[in-house]
Amino acid sequence: MDYSKLFVETLREDPAEAEVISHKLMYRAGLIRKLAAGIYNYMPAGLRSLRKIENIIREEMDRAGAQEVLMPAVQPAELWQESGRWDYYGKELLRFRDRHGRDYCMGPTHEEVITDLVRSVVRSYRQLPVNLYQIQTKFRDEIRPRFGVMRSREFIMKDAYSFDTDNAGAEESYRLMKEAYNNIFRRCGLKFVAVEADSGAIGGSFSHEFMVLAQSGEDAIAACECGYGANVEKAEVTHDGAEADSSKAPARELIATPNVRTIDEVCAFFKVSPAEVAKTLIFATDAVGAPLVAVCVRGDHDANPAKVKNLVGANYAELATEEQVREATCAPSGFAGPCGIKVPVYFDRALRGLSHFISGANQPDAHYKNLVAGRDFTVEGWADLRFILAGDPCPRCGKNITVARGIEVGHIFKLGTKYSEKLKATFLDASGKDVEIVMGCYGIGVGRTLASAIEQNYDENGIVWPVPIAPWEVIILPVQVKDEESMRVAREIQSALVKSGVEVLFDDRDERAGVKFKDADLLGIPLRITIGSKGLKEGVVEVKERAGGAEAKMAIGEVAAYASKWVAERKA
Ligand code: ATP
Ligand code: MG
Repeated sequence: MDYSKLFVETLREDPAEAEVISHKLMYRAGLIRKLAAGIYNYMPAGLRSLRKIENIIREEMDRAGAQEVLMPAVQPAELWQESGRWDYYGKELLRFRDRHGRDYCMGPTHEEVITDLVRSVVRSYRQLPVNLYQIQTKFRDEIRPRFGVMRSREFIMKDAYSFDTDNAGAEESYRLMKEAYNNIFRRCGLKFVAVEADSGAIGGSFSHEFMVLAQSGEDAIAACECGYGANVEKAEVTHDGAEADSSKAPARELIATPNVRTIDEVCAFFKVSPAEVAKTLIFATDAVGAPLVAVCVRGDHDANPAKVKNLVGANYAELATEEQVREATCAPSGFAGPCGIKVPVYFDRALRGLSHFISGANQPDAHYKNLVAGRDFTVEGWADLRFILAGDPCPRCGKNITVARGIEVGHIFKLGTKYSEKLKATFLDASGKDVEIVMGCYGIGVGRTLASAIEQNYDENGIVWPVPIAPWEVIILPVQVKDEESMRVAREIQSALVKSGVEVLFDDRDERAGVKFKDADLLGIPLRITIGSKGLKEGVVEVKERAGGAEAKMAIGEVAAYASKWVAERKA
């Protein structure tokens, strides 16, 4: 490819809205252009890298025995009503109506469609197991699209779905996908970890997230040197200290606390530390019977919505609105407490370490002192309900947990019969009985993987692509394009490289050398071959690795063989 013909515009300035390095560099290197909030065009160079990731994914999915399909982006509401998700999926689901008044949505994920497809084809156990995947455009109306293609509204996902006759089969499908994902992200040149993730109703360790380690990551990962790793949403707090003796606690006391709402304000008012206070949060869930629940955690801890959700057996748990807080507490937010509240109260186990504590009084401008669970109010249940913190003991080995940031690039999940039950996707087993299919689902954000690779591979001059996903592997840069000899030698090296299958970007632009070097660095091409008239007189060209290392002189006759070997050794 000749640079002069490449459809690209590189920029010297970062776009104002870009918060993370990958977004800045993808924009500046001309890999993407924005169309609307969270909606992007991929430019030729960006698309080349994206396709390479897709191909690595394809190869590994095929190797694992999955088959590629392509499902529609537009999905009929009926399927979502059948699964029950039409009502609770919320605003991320973009819904619309056609000219006949029928409801549709843009697919944010494809469990409904694939289950419908499989139920229409599969009749007998002989047709199972089957694993189907696609690489396709999703739409999620994200509340805060940001970081470029990392969290966009329209994005490309690889999603796969496995269908097995029983649990053991589904677990084997899961294992195969976990292995395939490890291969995929390794081949993309990423530093990543597979961590345990919240698996909701399924429970057990049948949900893993693949996290690319990066400061800019939106997820927090709890890890231990023993090998344990989990999303902090999931990481269990198993050791929470000794139980305090409440038998000598003083009687509870109602204290007027005008405008004292936050933990900091409460601590300043009572002159105590956050660890001596109970924080009461109201959660709204879709649990039947008691959709509002209160959760008490220590003032220096944070309540974990995923744990709350699982405890009450709901699909989601989110902080209640001001109105719901008033319904539960009869007070404005800031004064909720376990004593006299109108909804069930769950306590985090760390609170067992306090013999008595301060908490809101469920009336405006008041708190209680010296509260004791069981004596002053009833507790619906004690459980692990908080986020793990750095320094907490590892649930496996007891050593200190560390917390790092990560970007979720992939997610594998055992679904069980959640969808096959709702959509009646069954098969006839060997004895002729109708049985529900056991499912799993497996996603990879393709654009997010691309952006994550940049988060891990850049320097002050631009992107430093891992070879397997670089848009081109080698850039040939003749300094004087008007010099015939330079161009002849440069083209010769190019054709030798192309012949051996190397992807070459040829910078034929009549620009200053400095400009061309800057663009080559910004675009991050792994190997640069520079042809200058001075070197030519000595019969040499210069070779430079983007990832660092000095520029080395090399004989003209040797450079093509060297470069193609260099690339081949680094290709996944
Ligand atoms: P997140 O918590 O980041 O919103 P998710 O749990 O909603 O992710 P899944 O439903 O598991 O994501 O989707 C599978 C994969 O699709 C994710 O692992 C991620 O790589 C990618 N993905 C999800 N949402 C987006 C988005 N808005 N933009 C780009 N990629 C996304
Ligand atoms: Mg999401």
